[in-house]
Amino acid sequence: IRSAVRSVEGVAQQSGLVLTASIDETLPDAVSGDGLRLRQVLLNLTSNALKFTPRGEVVVSARAIGMGEEDDGRRWTDVEFGVSDTGIGIPTDRQILIFEPFRQADGSTTRQFGGTGLGLAISRRLVDLMGGKLELDSQPGKGSRFFFRLRMTTTAVICEDPRKHKGTGSHRVPSMAPLRILLAEDNAVNQRLVIRTLERNGHHVEVAPTGLEALKRLEHCQVDLVLMDVHMPEMDGLTATRILRSREVSTGSHVPVIAMTANAMRGDREKCLEAGMDDYISKPLHLDDLLAVVEATANRSQKPPIL
Ligand code: ADP
Repeated sequence: IRSAVRSVEGVAQQSGLVLTASIDETLPDAVSGDGLRLRQVLLNLTSNALKFTPRGEVVVSARAIGMGEEDDGRRWTDVEFGVSDTGIGIPTDRQILIFEPFRQADGSTTRQFGGTGLGLAISRRLVDLMGGKLELDSQPGKGSRFFFRLRMTTTAVICEDPRKHKGTGSHRVPSMAPLRILLAEDNAVNQRLVIRTLERNGHHVEVAPTGLEALKRLEHCQVDLVLMDVHMPEMDGLTATRILRSREVSTGSHVPVIAMTANAMRGDREKCLEAGMDDYISKPLHLDDLLAVVEATANRSQKPPIL
């Protein structure tokens, strides 16, 4: 939504129109859908709204109108997207026709505003393909509102931005910018210990109790670093890291992974590095070491490569 709005902000400014994005707070942080198509539809509708609005405002909105869960545990959210304007509106008898290719609301449109009459036909088709229906409410002289509803899979991740995170209690002045850290660890005591240490230092920690869950989260959520227990149920940390690294081959990215293991045996460090981990902490955890290794690893990975 924001990227569609951003690309026509200049047009709105030139025409003296107020253009806003209104995104409902109750929407989940992450849903999966076809971002490219969605952006194209919103861009078509917003460009039209700006074109046919001499004064007033254009609002691009998204709100959750329902949420639920499938039998297999997958959660979904019904999202309603809308683009409304205070423009010239569309006469009732033209409201169905304008969705047909090469149709415009009235014959003088082409002369006055240009256009091909294709934008809405394409948008309706794209919304169909995404499983929704593009609809219209309009009153001539008052404005129009185009809207559609899509059922989107809610991803399990809550990608909180630590910069928005309002921690409570006394925190020491952080030594670096807050990091988003994924902690893959099944042991509740260790989880609490790590969370407390890192959050006190201004970082934000998400927990995944298994290697599989960690991989799922990494698919949808951007983190700065992963702390990975080597022994976990469902999938161990070494396997999870190998899969993560093979996925990264196509994206060219590299999320630093620090191994945590109770087996401080010789050869463990090599096994972790071989699996694609960046560093290694042995358990029981020494909290100062933990913080130092986390921050040093994150700092290293933020440095530009040496040419
Ligand atoms: P184009 O804008 O290229 O003519 P579209 O298919 O996007 O083609 O739109 C078809 C017609 O629908 C437009 O020519 C215009 O008459 C009408 N229309 C579309 N959006 C709006 C709007 N927000 N307000 C008023 N009329 C609109």
